[in-house]
Amino acid sequence: MGYNIAIDGPAGAGKSTIAKIAAKELGFIYVDTGAMYRAMGIFLMREGVDAADADAISAKCREADITIRYENGEQVVYLNGENVNGVIRTEEAGTMASLTSKNPDVRKKLVELQQKLAADADVVMDGRDIGTCVLPDAQVKVYLTASSAVRAKRRYLELTAKGTDCDIETIEADIIERDRQDMTREISPLVQAEDAVLIDSSEMTVEEVAERIMSLVKGHTK
Ligand code: C5P
Repeated sequence: MGYNIAIDGPAGAGKSTIAKIAAKELGFIYVDTGAMYRAMGIFLMREGVDAADADAISAKCREADITIRYENGEQVVYLNGENVNGVIRTEEAGTMASLTSKNPDVRKKLVELQQKLAADADVVMDGRDIGTCVLPDAQVKVYLTASSAVRAKRRYLELTAKGTDCDIETIEADIIERDRQDMTREISPLVQAEDAVLIDSSEMTVEEVAERIMSLVKGHTK
Protein backbone atom coordinates (compact mmCIF):
# COMPACT_ATOMS: atom_id res chain seq x y z
CA MET A 1 0.00 0.00 0.00
CA GLY A 2 1.16 3.51 -0.73
CA TYR A 3 1.04 6.31 1.82
CA ASN A 4 -2.64 7.29 1.92
CA ILE A 5 -4.22 10.51 3.13
CA ALA A 6 -8.03 10.52 3.31
CA ILE A 7 -9.98 13.77 3.36
CA ASP A 8 -13.75 13.56 3.79
CA GLY A 9 -16.39 16.16 4.41
CA PRO A 10 -19.55 17.82 3.11
CA ALA A 11 -20.01 19.68 -0.17
CA GLY A 12 -18.00 22.87 -0.50
CA ALA A 13 -15.84 22.40 2.59
CA GLY A 14 -12.69 23.05 0.53
CA LYS A 15 -11.55 19.44 0.32
CA SER A 16 -10.24 19.61 -3.23
CA THR A 17 -8.40 22.91 -2.70
CA ILE A 18 -6.64 21.54 0.37
CA ALA A 19 -6.04 18.07 -1.07
CA LYS A 20 -4.40 19.58 -4.16
CA ILE A 21 -2.06 21.73 -2.03
CA ALA A 22 -1.11 18.79 0.19
CA ALA A 23 -0.54 16.51 -2.81
CA LYS A 24 1.69 19.10 -4.46
CA GLU A 25 3.77 19.69 -1.33
CA LEU A 26 4.21 15.98 -0.72
CA GLY A 27 4.64 14.92 -4.34
CA PHE A 28 1.61 12.62 -3.99
CA ILE A 29 -1.17 11.99 -6.50
CA TYR A 30 -4.44 13.81 -5.85
CA VAL A 31 -7.49 11.60 -6.38
CA ASP A 32 -10.82 13.43 -6.62
CA THR A 33 -13.45 10.73 -6.10
CA GLY A 34 -16.38 13.15 -6.40
CA ALA A 35 -15.36 13.63 -10.05
CA MET A 36 -15.93 9.91 -10.65
CA TYR A 37 -19.46 10.03 -9.15
CA ARG A 38 -20.11 13.14 -11.21
CA ALA A 39 -19.00 11.37 -14.40
CA MET A 40 -21.31 8.47 -13.53
CA GLY A 41 -24.13 10.96 -12.87
CA ILE A 42 -23.57 12.56 -16.30
CA PHE A 43 -23.59 9.14 -17.95
CA LEU A 44 -26.88 8.14 -16.31
CA MET A 45 -28.42 11.53 -17.09
CA ARG A 46 -27.42 11.25 -20.77
CA GLU A 47 -28.88 7.73 -20.90
CA GLY A 48 -32.17 9.14 -19.63
CA VAL A 49 -32.12 7.02 -16.48
CA ASP A 50 -34.58 8.12 -13.79
CA ALA A 51 -32.56 8.99 -10.67
CA ALA A 52 -35.28 7.35 -8.56
CA ASP A 53 -35.13 4.02 -10.43
CA ALA A 54 -32.56 1.95 -8.52
CA ASP A 55 -32.84 -1.11 -10.80
CA ALA A 56 -32.26 0.96 -13.92
CA ILE A 57 -29.22 2.61 -12.32
CA SER A 58 -27.80 -0.78 -11.28
CA ALA A 59 -28.23 -2.13 -14.81
CA LYS A 60 -26.96 0.94 -16.70
CA CYS A 61 -23.96 1.75 -14.53
CA ARG A 62 -22.22 -1.37 -15.85
CA GLU A 63 -22.00 0.30 -19.26
CA ALA A 64 -20.06 3.27 -17.94
CA ASP A 65 -16.34 2.84 -18.31
CA ILE A 66 -14.84 5.46 -16.01
CA THR A 67 -11.08 5.83 -15.97
CA ILE A 68 -8.62 8.33 -14.61
CA ARG A 69 -5.50 9.65 -16.25
CA TYR A 70 -3.03 12.25 -15.14
CA GLU A 71 -2.25 14.84 -17.76
CA ASN A 72 0.09 17.75 -16.91
CA GLY A 73 -0.36 16.96 -13.23
CA GLU A 74 -4.17 17.21 -13.46
CA GLN A 75 -6.64 14.40 -12.92
CA VAL A 76 -8.65 13.85 -16.09
CA VAL A 77 -11.80 11.74 -15.95
CA TYR A 78 -12.72 9.71 -19.01
CA LEU A 79 -16.24 8.43 -19.54
CA ASN A 80 -16.30 5.76 -22.25
CA GLY A 81 -13.23 7.35 -23.78
CA GLU A 82 -14.48 10.97 -23.59
CA ASN A 83 -12.73 13.57 -21.44
CA VAL A 84 -15.59 14.87 -19.26
CA ASN A 85 -13.63 17.28 -17.06
CA GLY A 86 -15.38 20.21 -18.76
CA VAL A 87 -18.90 19.00 -17.98
CA ILE A 88 -18.77 17.52 -14.47
CA ARG A 89 -18.45 20.75 -12.50
CA THR A 90 -22.05 21.96 -12.78
CA GLU A 91 -24.55 21.95 -9.89
CA GLU A 92 -26.73 19.67 -12.01
CA ALA A 93 -23.94 17.06 -12.25
CA GLY A 94 -23.35 17.36 -8.49
CA THR A 95 -27.00 16.78 -7.74
CA MET A 96 -27.22 13.82 -10.13
CA ALA A 97 -24.02 12.40 -8.58
CA SER A 98 -25.52 12.70 -5.12
CA LEU A 99 -28.81 11.07 -6.19
CA THR A 100 -27.12 8.13 -7.93
CA SER A 101 -24.15 7.60 -5.58
CA LYS A 102 -26.43 5.94 -3.06
CA ASN A 103 -26.76 2.96 -5.42
CA PRO A 104 -24.67 -0.03 -4.21
CA ASP A 105 -23.58 -1.06 -7.73
CA VAL A 106 -22.39 2.44 -8.56
CA ARG A 107 -20.41 2.56 -5.31
CA LYS A 108 -18.92 -0.90 -5.73
CA LYS A 109 -17.62 -0.06 -9.18
CA LEU A 110 -16.10 3.29 -8.23
CA VAL A 111 -14.70 2.16 -4.86
CA GLU A 112 -12.79 -0.63 -6.64
CA LEU A 113 -11.26 1.88 -8.99
CA GLN A 114 -10.30 4.15 -6.08
CA GLN A 115 -8.73 1.33 -4.08
CA LYS A 116 -6.73 0.25 -7.11
CA LEU A 117 -5.37 3.79 -7.53
CA ALA A 118 -4.31 3.95 -3.87
CA ALA A 119 -2.81 0.46 -3.79
CA ASP A 120 0.35 1.28 -5.64
CA ALA A 121 0.73 5.04 -5.26
CA ASP A 122 1.02 7.67 -2.53
CA VAL A 123 -2.27 9.53 -2.68
CA VAL A 124 -4.31 12.30 -1.16
CA MET A 125 -7.87 11.19 -1.82
CA ASP A 126 -10.96 13.25 -1.08
CA GLY A 127 -14.63 12.29 -0.96
CA ARG A 128 -17.32 11.25 1.50
CA ASP A 129 -16.39 7.69 2.52
CA ILE A 130 -12.63 7.55 2.02
CA GLY A 131 -11.62 7.22 5.69
CA THR A 132 -14.58 5.00 6.55
CA CYS A 133 -14.79 2.63 3.53
CA VAL A 134 -12.37 3.16 0.68
CA LEU A 135 -9.11 3.47 2.62
CA PRO A 136 -9.84 2.35 6.20
CA ASP A 137 -6.08 1.94 6.80
CA ALA A 138 -5.08 5.41 5.57
CA GLN A 139 -2.19 6.79 7.61
CA VAL A 140 -3.83 10.20 7.95
CA LYS A 141 -7.58 10.84 8.02
CA VAL A 142 -9.18 14.25 8.09
CA TYR A 143 -12.83 15.26 8.32
CA LEU A 144 -12.96 18.75 6.87
CA THR A 145 -16.07 20.80 7.41
CA ALA A 146 -17.38 24.37 7.69
CA SER A 147 -20.78 25.91 8.39
CA SER A 148 -23.26 25.79 5.50
CA ALA A 149 -23.30 29.62 5.39
CA VAL A 150 -19.52 29.77 4.96
CA ARG A 151 -19.54 26.99 2.37
CA ALA A 152 -22.31 28.73 0.40
CA LYS A 153 -20.41 32.02 0.48
CA ARG A 154 -17.22 30.39 -0.81
CA ARG A 155 -19.09 28.68 -3.64
CA TYR A 156 -20.89 31.93 -4.47
CA LEU A 157 -17.59 33.84 -4.71
CA GLU A 158 -16.07 31.07 -6.84
CA LEU A 159 -19.02 31.08 -9.26
CA THR A 160 -19.35 34.86 -9.54
CA ALA A 161 -15.59 35.11 -10.16
CA LYS A 162 -16.15 32.85 -13.17
CA GLY A 163 -18.97 35.15 -14.32
CA THR A 164 -21.77 32.72 -13.40
CA ASP A 165 -24.99 34.37 -12.31
CA CYS A 166 -26.23 32.84 -9.03
CA ASP A 167 -27.78 33.65 -5.70
CA ILE A 168 -26.39 32.70 -2.34
CA GLU A 169 -29.66 31.51 -0.75
CA THR A 170 -30.21 28.94 -3.53
CA ILE A 171 -26.62 27.75 -3.21
CA GLU A 172 -26.94 27.30 0.55
CA ALA A 173 -30.25 25.44 0.14
CA ASP A 174 -28.62 23.11 -2.44
CA ILE A 175 -25.66 22.50 -0.13
CA ILE A 176 -27.94 21.65 2.80
CA GLU A 177 -30.00 19.28 0.64
CA ARG A 178 -26.88 17.54 -0.73
CA ASP A 179 -25.50 17.12 2.83
CA ARG A 180 -28.80 15.62 3.91
CA GLN A 181 -28.77 13.13 1.03
CA ASP A 182 -25.13 12.16 1.60
CA MET A 183 -25.43 11.86 5.39
CA THR A 184 -28.67 9.89 5.51
CA ARG A 185 -28.12 7.31 2.74
CA GLU A 186 -27.98 3.68 3.75
CA ILE A 187 -24.64 2.73 2.18
CA SER A 188 -21.44 4.57 3.11
CA PRO A 189 -23.11 7.72 4.42
CA LEU A 190 -20.96 10.77 5.03
CA VAL A 191 -19.78 10.42 8.61
CA GLN A 192 -16.56 11.29 10.41
CA ALA A 193 -14.38 8.18 10.80
CA GLU A 194 -13.62 7.38 14.43
CA ASP A 195 -9.92 7.93 13.85
CA ALA A 196 -10.28 11.05 11.68
CA VAL A 197 -9.12 14.47 12.83
CA LEU A 198 -11.91 17.06 12.67
CA ILE A 199 -10.99 20.37 11.08
CA ASP A 200 -13.66 23.07 10.99
CA SER A 201 -12.42 25.59 8.44
CA SER A 202 -15.21 28.17 8.98
CA GLU A 203 -12.79 30.59 10.62
CA MET A 204 -9.58 29.37 8.95
CA THR A 205 -7.72 30.42 5.81
CA VAL A 206 -6.70 27.91 3.14
CA GLU A 207 -3.08 28.25 4.29
CA GLU A 208 -3.99 27.50 7.90
CA VAL A 209 -5.91 24.36 6.95
CA ALA A 210 -3.09 23.17 4.66
CA GLU A 211 -0.54 23.75 7.44
CA ARG A 212 -2.64 21.78 9.90
CA ILE A 213 -2.81 18.82 7.51
CA MET A 214 0.92 18.96 6.79
CA SER A 215 1.59 18.89 10.53
CA LEU A 216 -0.58 15.76 10.83
CA VAL A 217 1.42 14.11 8.06
CA LYS A 218 4.74 15.06 9.63
CA GLY A 219 3.58 13.72 12.98
CA HIS A 220 2.90 10.37 11.41
CA THR A 221 5.81 8.22 10.35
CA LYS A 222 5.33 5.50 7.77
O1 C5P B 1 -17.31 16.16 -3.91
P1 C5P B 1 -18.30 16.35 -5.02
O2 C5P B 1 -19.22 17.50 -4.81
O3 C5P B 1 -17.66 16.40 -6.37
O4 C5P B 1 -19.18 15.01 -5.00
C1 C5P B 1 -20.39 14.88 -5.73
C2 C5P B 1 -21.27 13.81 -5.08
O5 C5P B 1 -20.67 12.52 -5.25
C3 C5P B 1 -21.45 13.95 -3.56
O6 C5P B 1 -22.52 14.81 -3.22
C4 C5P B 1 -21.71 12.52 -3.13
O7 C5P B 1 -23.06 12.16 -3.23
C5 C5P B 1 -20.94 11.69 -4.14
N1 C5P B 1 -19.69 11.18 -3.57
C6 C5P B 1 -19.77 10.03 -2.82
N2 C5P B 1 -18.62 9.46 -2.33
C7 C5P B 1 -17.43 10.01 -2.56
C8 C5P B 1 -17.33 11.22 -3.31
C9 C5P B 1 -18.50 11.79 -3.79
O8 C5P B 1 -20.85 9.50 -2.58
N3 C5P B 1 -16.33 9.41 -2.11
